[in-house]
Amino acid sequence: MLRCRKPLFIPKLTRIRTFRTSAVRKNAIFNPATVERAEDEVDVCIVGGGPAGLSAAIRLKQLEREKGNEIRVVVLEKGSEIGSHIVSGAVIEPRALNELLPDWSSMSDHPLTQPTTSSRMLFLTPKHAVPIPHPPQMGNKGNYVVSLSQFTRWLAGVAENEFGVEVYPGFAGAQLLLSEDADALDPWGNKVRSVQGVVTNEVGLTRKFHMKPSFEPGMAFRAKVTLLAEGAHGSLSKQAIGLYDLRKESQPQTYGIGLKEVWRVDPEKHKPGEVVHTIGWPLDMQTYGGGWVYHMNGGLVSLGLVIGLDYKNPWISPYRELQKMKHHPYFRSLLSSPKAERLSYAARVLNEGGLQSVPKLNFPGGALIGCSAGFVNIAKIKGTHNAMKSGMLAAEAAWDVVHPESESASDMSAYDSALHKSWIHTDLHEVRNLRASFGTRLGMLGGVLYSGIDSLFLKGRVPWTFKHHKPASSSGKESDFPTSSLDASLTQPASSHNPPVYPAFEAPLSTDLLTSVALTGTNHAEDQPVHLRVVRTARYVEEVVDKAKEGKGNVAVGAGLDAVRAEAEVLGCEKEAEAEEVREEVERRQAHVRVNVGEYAGLLGRACPAGVYEYVPDEEGGAKEGWDGKKLVINSQVCAFTLLLPISISFRCSSQNCIHCKLCDVKVPTQDITWTVPEGGGGPKYSEFFLTV
Ligand SMILES: Cc1cc2nc3c(=O)[nH]c(=O)nc-3n(C[C@H](O)[C@H](O)[C@H](O)COP(=O)(O)OP(=O)(O)OC[C@H]3O[C@@H](n4cnc5c(N)ncnc54)[C@H](O)[C@@H]3O)c2cc1C
Ligand code: SF4
Repeated sequence: MLRCRKPLFIPKLTRIRTFRTSAVRKNAIFNPATVERAEDEVDVCIVGGGPAGLSAAIRLKQLEREKGNEIRVVVLEKGSEIGSHIVSGAVIEPRALNELLPDWSSMSDHPLTQPTTSSRMLFLTPKHAVPIPHPPQMGNKGNYVVSLSQFTRWLAGVAENEFGVEVYPGFAGAQLLLSEDADALDPWGNKVRSVQGVVTNEVGLTRKFHMKPSFEPGMAFRAKVTLLAEGAHGSLSKQAIGLYDLRKESQPQTYGIGLKEVWRVDPEKHKPGEVVHTIGWPLDMQTYGGGWVYHMNGGLVSLGLVIGLDYKNPWISPYRELQKMKHHPYFRSLLSSPKAERLSYAARVLNEGGLQSVPKLNFPGGALIGCSAGFVNIAKIKGTHNAMKSGMLAAEAAWDVVHPESESASDMSAYDSALHKSWIHTDLHEVRNLRASFGTRLGMLGGVLYSGIDSLFLKGRVPWTFKHHKPASSSGKESDFPTSSLDASLTQPASSHNPPVYPAFEAPLSTDLLTSVALTGTNHAEDQPVHLRVVRTARYVEEVVDKAKEGKGNVAVGAGLDAVRAEAEVLGCEKEAEAEEVREEVERRQAHVRVNVGEYAGLLGRACPAGVYEYVPDEEGGAKEGWDGKKLVINSQVCAFTLLLPISISFRCSSQNCIHCKLCDVKVPTQDITWTVPEGGGGPKYSEFFLTV
């Protein structure tokens, strides 16, 4: 237990409307308990400027017009601009858009300019592409091939210019703003603290949690309703799901990683509006997934591969699988031309769990919308229509709880009920057994067969719903937080598998990882706290939510020894307590390396699609944070993880390259990487390319 001598303060919230107040003690160690924050009061605070968040914002403002009461709606987006963190190149179903903006097609600047023209499916063997009938759900009549990044930018323009929504890019929601005391009931009837808004990230801290001259404290957005619209595996959504046990009655979520490239192809090979899906090669028979090729307008093609993160073989590299896929004669013929050029690369996890994995949607003071909850119809590989519709339904419920005003925490349960009566439920109910069948005893081939029969004939009209099974034994893996990942627990030890054989790169058709990452435009301020925390989420939440309430939380938990030590110092901890904090940090890192290197052959080193993690030999040897001669380095800073074994290995993590895909948080077998937001405005710039074409 920590013993602190200094008096403890609760953070002060200044009720003013400017965005930032400057901290007084620049270059001092950051003390979250004494920092003065600017506070802004809004009716609805939406975290995440994607399709879900923006649709919710627009719908709220439409209700304002219809009903006459004013409402203040703010959208916070961690990307430097709207769309910069949205993975581009999608086929979208316009159903929700038709409901939200019935006149969208008459708006001069709308980006839905490329209707789908044909849709087909190919079964790939190493040498051949065999056409096969695609399930009816994958039909694309009436849909559009778009850049989702561009679509979101357009939607944000509509929200701001037509409806007066306040959209703030560069603002990362870092913490839930909780009430001081338990003042509300959670969906299960327990007395809990309610969500009263969010606090954005501090800007201008060093890696060791010292305040730079440019330091500005994060701002508190106090809201009657907080809508979490962070997309798949959101960092605040994960906390809310854990804090309010929102998965109590649902199945765990399961994810896929989608890796995507946009190419300009030879005009002779470009077929505007063509949609192609592939299954089979290069994935092995134990791994769920498939590829796609979408012909966008402007001579562009979006192509990529989704791989189910329940994959068992820890030797798999999703990035290498994508590069290998392009060596198939079908892709080679499309992309090998002097006129072809790769323009962008991106990756992001997506929800695959479907209806049975949708958690309880409401919590006291707010709700989960879009992929924060998980409404992707994986049979269609589409989630945008459901994300938008969920935002609209949440907006209608939020309007009702904001008007008339009430002192008690906002109850958004009407949204949960409305969603399950809406067409989202019907959309997901029909396909609920398709993805789940692959995880049953039917196995991969049985899953293909079952899905074919279900999608063609049964159409979900069966009395059963398959569960996403957890393995009987998941020893050594976290089970102390409701958001622990099912996918992580399904990973098998490296000794049970062989490394796949990947062909050498053939630039420009296929390239090494860093060449691809350069195409993401990713950038983070160099000297800032490490946002990839080596700590289990339950422990992280304990420090930054529970203990921080009394000014006792070490908010640097998981961010490295120097940072933890600095925080312990500022908390006024006695030497003994400080040493304990540091010892725990060391132990966490040692345990991380021991299991991840010892049992899983350094899975993250291959799985991260941006090459952020590395386990490398520890030349100094015998360092104190490692195991088996290996140590962890974060942002090029060596955090020694060494136990005395034959060779010394370091674990390096250069979080500057992080493209915010969230794979590490989902897949790390030890479940001890907690993805938190870096300074707002950092990360990939996926929209940049589309601004210039
Ligand atoms: C590879 C891939 C291919 C896909 N293809 C298709 C397709 O073809 N058709 C289709 O319909 N769907 C597709 N999807 C799914 C689709 O992208 C999602 O369903 C949809 O984008 C969900 O919208 P959302 O608003 O819930 O989340 P997102 O689109 O993920 O938007 C979330 C936003 O919130 C921001 N954010 C997150 N956390 C914070 C925070 N703490 N503070 C501030 N901002 C934050 C993010 O930066 C992002 O801008 C695909 C997904 C992937 C990954
Ligand atoms: S560090 Fe994690 S979130 Fe960032 S790119 Fe790698 S796997 Fe994705």
